Amino acid sequence: MLLLGFGVAACSTTITGRRQLTLISDNKMDALGLAAFASLKHQAKLSQDQMVNDYVQCVTTAIIEVIPADGGPKGGKWEALVFEDPTPNAFALPGGKIGVHTGMLDVATTPGQLAAVLGHEVGHVLLRHGNERMSQSILADSAISAGSVAAGVASPEYRDLIVGGLGVGAQYGVLLPFSRKHESEADQVGQIFMAQAGFYPAEAITLWQTMAELGGKSPAQWQSTHPSDDARIARLQANLPRAIQEYEKARAAGKNPECVPPVVYE
Ligand SMILES: [Zn+2]
Repeated sequence: MLLLGFGVAACSTTITGRRQLTLISDNKMDALGLAAFASLKHQAKLSQDQMVNDYVQCVTTAIIEVIPADGGPKGGKWEALVFEDPTPNAFALPGGKIGVHTGMLDVATTPGQLAAVLGHEVGHVLLRHGNERMSQSILADSAISAGSVAAGVASPEYRDLIVGGLGVGAQYGVLLPFSRKHESEADQVGQIFMAQAGFYPAEAITLWQTMAELGGKSPAQWQSTHPSDDARIARLQANLPRAIQEYEKARAAGKNPECVPPVVYE
């Protein structure tokens, strides 16, 4: 009955086949994502390094070519920008915007590992995790309605909800994850996407092992927010045989992305 108050009680089905609550339209989510990205772009410093930009573009393009259109931007037009920022982070937003910090490239050191990061982040968008998270907040707080969120993009009361729901900003993305359920789903589809793009899917395991080691160095901030690293790695291992099948199919079909990592001068 409560849902009737929103005018539309929306449910959708994720690409993994799970039913989810999505109270906000795709168009509105795209608009929120685009607005958030524009403001991030305004605050951040973009990398001017051509080699770094070409590399990130190459891996992004390979992933974008294979992902489903549903949940993505209208017309399938994704854009990736590289932010000059030493924190190891990357994120993707509704509306088809991707941000990669230069610091992410020190952690995801191979094209396959970067593909694992991008597959995971793009997975959150295609699985409408931001919409679901915001919809859950709306249900939990009777003072907020989907209509007021939709109307109040710029209003400060809803900024935290929108920013948190979308997962934008320096502290979100890889660094501050979604719920365990959402992380697990993004891992699963992300590993399949990278494999379908022709990247060896075991590299997703290497990536998250490295991330876990990194987290071990700043345990308080990391472990309070992250799903169990062991559980994550076990799930990626379990998903690996299916991902390898996809990888072999992709390779047989001629997918072999040749993205050259930038030289790192220490
Ligand atoms: Zn995530």
